[in-house]
Amino acid sequence: LSNSKVAERNKERSLIMIKPNGVQRGLVGEVIKRFEQKGFKLVAMKFTQASEEHMKTHYKDLEKLKFYPGLCKYMSSNPVVPMVWEGLGVVKTGRVMLGETDPAKSLPGTIRGDFSVHIGRNLVHGSDSVESAKKEIALWFKDDEVVTYTAGNNEWIY
Ligand code: ADP
Ligand code: MG
Repeated sequence: LSNSKVAERNKERSLIMIKPNGVQRGLVGEVIKRFEQKGFKLVAMKFTQASEEHMKTHYKDLEKLKFYPGLCKYMSSNPVVPMVWEGLGVVKTGRVMLGETDPAKSLPGTIRGDFSVHIGRNLVHGSDSVESAKKEIALWFKDDEVVTYTAGNNEWIY
């Protein structure tokens, strides 16, 4: 692969968000630690309580499902920590690190597997595709809130 292709793949981004119960249980640092240790790069983060409307937009794809109203209400009931993490394969690998949607099916070693039991309180959100990551990042962050910087002067440390 050409240097520019490598550089482009290394810049894949995912929206990872610590949900209200993750904040309340003091697991913000734990989630950040795992993504840092894996080798991904934090390029945006905020601490915010979103409106129900905002959460309805975030979860728009699920609007036909019966848990959608309760989900959006819960997600807007308390602060959350949305973040943008960058690096090779971060969307897919981020989902592996989170575990399954249902914590009961999540293996130990995953965030949901290690820290949660209930599908509606599964601690973290992670984008499910590069496409939806782009949409979600645009919903949560202005362009200038996503920061570009170099952590190392080579292509394997982001
Ligand atoms: P994921 O967060 O793993 O991408 P989905 O996008 O399918 O999962 O669903 C969004 C969120 O809605 C889940 O993280 C979970 O908190 C909640 N959810 C999903 N399925 C159910 C369900 N059957 N009952 C209650 N809440 C659910
Ligand atoms: Mg999803």
